[in-house]
Amino acid sequence: MSQSNEFEGGCLCGALRYRCATPPLDAGYCHCRLCQRSTGAPVLVWATFPFDRFAYTQGTPALYRSSAHGVREFCATCGTQIAYRAFADARTIDVNVGSLDNPAGVPPRRHVWTASRIPWFDTRDELPRQPGEGSDPA
Ligand SMILES: [Zn+2]
Ligand SMILES: [Zn+2]
Repeated sequence: MSQSNEFEGGCLCGALRYRCATPPLDAGYCHCRLCQRSTGAPVLVWATFPFDRFAYTQGTPALYRSSAHGVREFCATCGTQIAYRAFADARTIDVNVGSLDNPAGVPPRRHVWTASRIPWFDTRDELPRQPGEGSDPA
């Protein structure tokens, strides 16, 4: 496995470390209220990886069921949210791009849930914008 196919990251305190052994299938900005509240930030950038290629290499995440649709994984020590797993799709995991060691390597491709975008927050791009969940443009 070449180093260029490694997507590694971790939480702020270092208790949690993870590795994705393949490039992401998708990536984007999520403007939903659950992502806003669970991060305390105006938007979350996620990257979707195949679940069978994702692994924690250090530590075990705490889990929070943020809705009927899925669970968020985070560090119980420093609070960094690492990932989201949707119950409807056990084959993938959405990793928070800000937790990657090299977030510059995973540029967002689209915006979802723009219906709840905070009006004073916007990005200067021409990426597709979807008012709801949308679908994978790939
Ligand atoms: Zn931590
Ligand atoms: Zn969201």
